[in-house]
Amino acid sequence: MNSQAPNPETIAVNIAEVRTRISAAARAAGRDPAAITLVAVGKTHGAAYIEAALGAGQRVFGENRVQEALGKFPPLKSAHGDLVLHLIGPLQTNKADEAVALFDVIETLDRPKLARVLAKVMAKTGRRPECFIQVNTGEEPQKAGVMPREADDFIAFARDELGLPVTGLMCIPPQDEEAALHFTLLAGMAERNRLLKLSMGMSADYEAAIRFGATHVRVGTAIFGDREPR
Ligand SMILES: *Cc1c(COP(=O)(O)O)cnc(C)c1O
Repeated sequence: MNSQAPNPETIAVNIAEVRTRISAAARAAGRDPAAITLVAVGKTHGAAYIEAALGAGQRVFGENRVQEALGKFPPLKSAHGDLVLHLIGPLQTNKADEAVALFDVIETLDRPKLARVLAKVMAKTGRRPECFIQVNTGEEPQKAGVMPREADDFIAFARDELGLPVTGLMCIPPQDEEAALHFTLLAGMAERNRLLKLSMGMSADYEAAIRFGATHVRVGTAIFGDREPR
């Protein structure tokens, strides 16, 4: 974890710049800037970085590890009732209880076993965080996500059979490919399954993602700076 003290001014300036660029990209695409949610990804950065972003008015955050999020967010959530936390990394079934308790959106639902466990935990606790289904649009073996050809069936299973609150799709395009192709594929999949939310685009390509319909962009480096290797 990066325990260096953050520079709150830099973080505030970065957030303002990302917001300006989001608005410009939305308008250029004929979309309402308010329809796009900036998810600030503070993974590997300490709670002081999140506090700096909160001070700049940011309220939606993304974390990719349950343990790390548990170490940072409970006090911040108590202090800010309007803080919204997204899980954007792989979820193991043995952490489903903790994830359902802590996160407001789980963006990485990607397999039947996890869907069943989440349905059980939600029934037991009554807490129902929104779920996005992660699609492995590049069909990369090392990457999480349901395969594109299996996505429609999996959406039907999770949403219609299990009754999970599935509201959107998420993807992480391969690094060495044209992201636009993946954004288009994901947008088409969402449309034909009547899902309104699309989490796609990171620091390097969030403006392109907005052009292709992103409703959620996940931005880390452009807000918080470089991450140290874990
Ligand atoms: C780390 C991460 C991001 C943010 O990446 P940046 O390039 O730093 O903006 C977005 N999405 C996921 C799933 C991540 O793990």
